[in-house]
Amino acid sequence: MPPEVEKSLADATRQSVWAHAFPTDWDFPTLTGEQKTDLAVVGSGFTGLWTAILAKTRQPERDVVVVEKNTLGHAASSRNGGFISESLTHGHAHGQAMWPDDMATLVELGRENMRQIRAFISDYGIDAEWSDCGKTAIAVTPVQAEHLKAVYEINNRFGEAAELLDAEQMREDVASPTYLGGVRVRTGSGLFHPVKMLVGMVRVAQDLGVRFYQHSPITALQARRTGLDLVAPQGRLRAHKAVLATSVFSPLVGGIKARVLPLFDHVLATEPLSAGHLDSLRWRESQGLTDLGNQFHYYRKTADNRIVWGGYDANYYFGDDSSPRREVRDASHTLLAKHFFDTFPQLEGVRFEYQWAGVIDSTSRFTPYFSTALGGRVASALGFTGLGTGSSRFGATAALDLLDDASSPLRRLEMVAQKPLPFPPEPFRYPLVQFTRWSLVKEDETGRRNLWLRLLDSLKVGFNS
Ligand SMILES: Cc1cc2nc3c(=O)[nH]c(=O)nc-3n(C[C@H](O)[C@H](O)[C@H](O)COP(=O)(O)OP(=O)(O)OC[C@H]3O[C@@H](n4cnc5c(N)ncnc54)[C@H](O)[C@@H]3O)c2cc1C
Repeated sequence: MPPEVEKSLADATRQSVWAHAFPTDWDFPTLTGEQKTDLAVVGSGFTGLWTAILAKTRQPERDVVVVEKNTLGHAASSRNGGFISESLTHGHAHGQAMWPDDMATLVELGRENMRQIRAFISDYGIDAEWSDCGKTAIAVTPVQAEHLKAVYEINNRFGEAAELLDAEQMREDVASPTYLGGVRVRTGSGLFHPVKMLVGMVRVAQDLGVRFYQHSPITALQARRTGLDLVAPQGRLRAHKAVLATSVFSPLVGGIKARVLPLFDHVLATEPLSAGHLDSLRWRESQGLTDLGNQFHYYRKTADNRIVWGGYDANYYFGDDSSPRREVRDASHTLLAKHFFDTFPQLEGVRFEYQWAGVIDSTSRFTPYFSTALGGRVASALGFTGLGTGSSRFGATAALDLLDDASSPLRRLEMVAQKPLPFPPEPFRYPLVQFTRWSLVKEDETGRRNLWLRLLDSLKVGFNS
């Protein structure tokens, strides 16, 4: 690796750039003794927090407890890129391929979901650095450039404000010698500060009466005659019902382990850029950017003029290992840094101040799945596949409807009613994931989907982050 790339990372702290916004004086108890509640929510990321807030909003008299095994919001929800999208289907093209009959409804539900998130921020005065800036999908290889027209057309078809840009127009907008064209989509997505959002949500939840326990891993979930027991090392929570918002971390009921794959995603953030560097980039609308490969980068500016630069590698470890030690993978961060300077050579000498990783909960259909267990007393919403900052609110709505509302129209959506195909168990899982990744890299290089990828297509399954 070139020495200047190594040097750019030399002083980077292993922490998310957003983490400074966590209050230093947050103090939540550990679950001890025997506690009781109407609804237990396991997990305090966006999915868990939306579940708690929506549950209280629907029925203010219901007691709601959130239990977190670590500190509140410490996982993906505080480590993501801060992109937020209306899409509930991992993009229009994927939704159209998977659920053509429901797609119009799913698009409208996604738009309504985003309207509700905006209204929530505004009603509760949360300064989440929200920006309705849309994003640009960029081609950086000839293979990707061939897809631009299709990306433009599918966005147009679903009513997005999309514009097809040739190489010159793309570089005029954001200055990189690697750009071969792009699709600027001004609607349907935006950017925000994940931890400011998360902290605001915890505050709202507390005001609504939600109680929180942290450092309290739920190790077992047991059915009782009239409810549930959630067992933690120092206590036990008796609940009528529970929602699992645990991402990849705890297969507390059957089916989760087979359907949710942990993938480590890596991210960097630069130091604040100088006025000269910012001018050299242009990027005046400050929209989020992604390139169009199977292995893709996502990047954006922050309010204090850093660039957050993430993606590309999506690492799976044998046996679903999602332990924190896997967050340290220098090869992934160094590769990201190299790609950064390849993209923006004018930023030579800029240093990275943050490097971090987080776990994505991937499903074989790239969208969350919803299920119930233990006689309908437990619902789960898991598997957001790297696109969950917005759709977690929809996930929470669907999970609560599965628990509480037998007549909910959401139950009739195929995406809610049906589960994704399971991944094979180990020892087959690891080699199949690696082979699929290899096939996707080959497709990025050649533009051709090999026999294996075409077989997966025919089964409507795949690998994505
Ligand atoms: C690096 C990275 C970048 C991403 N970028 C984006 C992006 O730009 N845009 C986007 O839309 N999405 C992105 N995502 C995905 C997005 O962050 C998540 O989908 C979203 O925040 C919803 O997360 P969650 O609440 O379902 O899970 P998490 O935030 O992972 O929360 C799950 C929580 O459950 C807790 N838990 C698990 N088991 C137990 C147990 N047994 N007892 C108690 N607590 C338990 C965990 O400790 C954790 O806090 C990214 C993810 C990563 C990792």
